Amino acid sequence: MKRFEEKVVIVTGAGSGLGQAATLQLAEEGAKLVLVDLNEAGLKETEEKVAAIAPQAEVLLIAANVADEDAVKGFVDATVDKFGKIDGFFNNAGIEGKQNLTEDFGIDEFQKVVSINLNGVFYGMKYVLKVMKEQGSGSIVNTASVGGIRGVGNQSGYAASKHGVVGLTRNSAIEYGQFGVSIKAIAPGAIMTPMVEGSLRQIDGDNWEEVGKEFVKPNPMRRFGKPEEVGYLVAFLLSNQADFINGVVVPIDGGQSYK
Ligand code: NAD
Repeated sequence: MKRFEEKVVIVTGAGSGLGQAATLQLAEEGAKLVLVDLNEAGLKETEEKVAAIAPQAEVLLIAANVADEDAVKGFVDATVDKFGKIDGFFNNAGIEGKQNLTEDFGIDEFQKVVSINLNGVFYGMKYVLKVMKEQGSGSIVNTASVGGIRGVGNQSGYAASKHGVVGLTRNSAIEYGQFGVSIKAIAPGAIMTPMVEGSLRQIDGDNWEEVGKEFVKPNPMRRFGKPEEVGYLVAFLLSNQADFINGVVVPIDGGQSYK
């Protein structure tokens, strides 16, 4: 079954990790895709992978910074200009930022993380929701984190931004359900992507794989999640099968949040 035949989906952070994995799942299921990322090389890589599994897929690549409101309005307008509608939006681009105790957390670093992870998600919702409301249909999946539903430590900016994403999700879900639009968030635990590799390298450089093995020992499943496992979840949540799921935060973390 191809759940995304004739569907138009925007993915931010599509050049790597979770955004790339979700893109590949959506492409395999027939979606027309607008792929957004700051990193143009990453976008090209994702485009090549899409071409390998779904050669017929229509793909529009847009290099844009989600922390820039005009740029976000720009990719939403470009999507409507090219495809005439937006069925799904994976509002996912984000950074982790430096790890530090709260007292050592610089305001510049704090604001940098919040401007991408929270302002960026807000801008995306603001412009996409306007389109979906007029259509009377659509689904948004925002990427929060386990760090958006409980404390993980050393991540003031990240925690504030991801808790904020959960708040935006719940608030807008109440506003837009009446227009046939559903809004959900996902809360991934540790999923092995370039972002996680980078944070393990912050702890111990070339020894990061060993650090990773220790890191996942407390997880009930004793492993990292795979990006494609998140891709399957996102595709389900963006599909019409999940239209009545609204305002929720879905953990995907091997049980880490429920220990
Ligand atoms: P990643 O670093 O592999 O991919 C993130 C992508 O977002 C990159 O391609 C990057 O270029 C892009 N990006 C960053 N800032 C941007 C900006 N300002 N504008 C446009 N694009 C930008 O990381 P990932 O692990 O795939 O993370 C994706 C999302 O998932 C993030 O929001 C992250 O916080 C969240 N998350 C990841 C994990 C995990 O374990 N990997 C856990 C919880 C939440």
